Amino acid sequence: MNITKREIIDLDGCPRFYWLSRFQKQLAGDKLDQMTMWMVAGMRIGEAARKEFSSGRMATGGPITLERLNDIPEVLFEANFEWEGFTTRADVLTKTPEGLVITEVKGSKSSEDGVKPEHILDVAFQLYVIRKLGLKVARIELMLLNANYQLGGTEPLFVRTDVTNIAEEFIPEIERRIPEAGKLLSQDFAPDLEHHSACKPCPFHRHCWKDAVSSDVMYVPRKQSKAIKELHDNGIVNIRQLDESSLKPKSADIKVSRAEKSPNGLYINPDIVKKIPTGLLAFVDFESAQMPLPRFVGDGVWSEVPFQWSMHILDTDTGELEHFEFVDVSGADPRPGFVKSLSERLDSLGKDWKVFHYSPYEIASLTRLIKRGVPGAEQLRELFTGHAIDLMKVVEENIYHLDFWGSYSIKSVYPALIKSNPYDGLDIADGASAALAYQEATEEQTTPAKRAEIEASLKEYCQLDTLAMVDIYRFLWAEAEKLSD
Ligand code: SF4
Repeated sequence: MNITKREIIDLDGCPRFYWLSRFQKQLAGDKLDQMTMWMVAGMRIGEAARKEFSSGRMATGGPITLERLNDIPEVLFEANFEWEGFTTRADVLTKTPEGLVITEVKGSKSSEDGVKPEHILDVAFQLYVIRKLGLKVARIELMLLNANYQLGGTEPLFVRTDVTNIAEEFIPEIERRIPEAGKLLSQDFAPDLEHHSACKPCPFHRHCWKDAVSSDVMYVPRKQSKAIKELHDNGIVNIRQLDESSLKPKSADIKVSRAEKSPNGLYINPDIVKKIPTGLLAFVDFESAQMPLPRFVGDGVWSEVPFQWSMHILDTDTGELEHFEFVDVSGADPRPGFVKSLSERLDSLGKDWKVFHYSPYEIASLTRLIKRGVPGAEQLRELFTGHAIDLMKVVEENIYHLDFWGSYSIKSVYPALIKSNPYDGLDIADGASAALAYQEATEEQTTPAKRAEIEASLKEYCQLDTLAMVDIYRFLWAEAEKLSD
């Protein structure tokens, strides 16, 4: 049986996930696509790392063996090893008189997240397999993105850390995991289903929990997985099995319980009317890209680059709705234009207005722009926060629909309340795809026609987000009106 280093690392998680990932990957559906962003980032980091080894060559032919060692270049990229069904690949393999040096490239920052246990498991597994082949390993190192790097500065992009000793210490753990992995992978059925901390975001969620109903305690927003497991283990699966008097007032459990009892699956706080402002209302959404490798002088690794905003302005007195936007995919730093254009637009609203955003992301992003020293960012944040209302918080505190399935994301809330999905069929339908599209548009080799096409798709997507906020606001307002009648 073939066992990869990824599988040895994944053994920490849900055994069912482990088994499904190997034998029924197709059941993960589209969700695995969301990993594309990380895969693209990983590829870019790998390419940048290889540039640091000028004599390196990509591996060709089969796995490296003792017999083949003399025939391979001094520095080899993506070197494969295989021993009795265990397969692994070293990002960079360097032959030295003392033995092989294995360099594993990771996209983590050198100081913030630093060396993670899974990194060590990864290299320990490589060490285990390579040694079994009778090859001598002189050193194992991790090559991480340098947290102190700034484009145009003097610090190197990568830092290397010798982890040979710590990898050695993990060998017994690898030896313990191998039979466990083999046992799991040799069974011809998936392990039993039980609630697991990773269930909600899991790509196999739809498959595993296809029979679950939306009033399952698992879908109570922000409920701890330990509490869910305890309830499931005690046979309490549906929120209706819990006595409402035992639930904390204002808790999400109460909202879900009341939604479950309501004929249309909707709970609304009777006081919501007090929370809904009227007048001149702006609805704003930002799109940003996390750049593992900085594009602009002064940026560090994993810099955030907001490149687009969309704003709908609703005058509730007249019912008039206008749209404004900014997007810069020219390849120049979009942040100064982003801040300037948004400041001007908000300034033009006069004194009496409110701005809705969805989640704390926009304000956090403005704070990061200040830290980055973008001119005008501080004044913009002051202006923005002085008028800001988090629409997600309004939803979270005042409303629950069983069709939210435990999530307050706009992509869950909108279809549940408005009964349609505006994102269906879009080329860009979520923030991760928007960030990827931005990166593609701003690459040198991208043609003007392709860039224009991406820009149009980005505009279409981002304006839908703010339009969706307007629709949610209107829904809340209509419900508040009904309650006050
Ligand atoms: S949904 Fe839960 S039980 Fe199913 S594979 Fe994912 S983590 Fe495991």
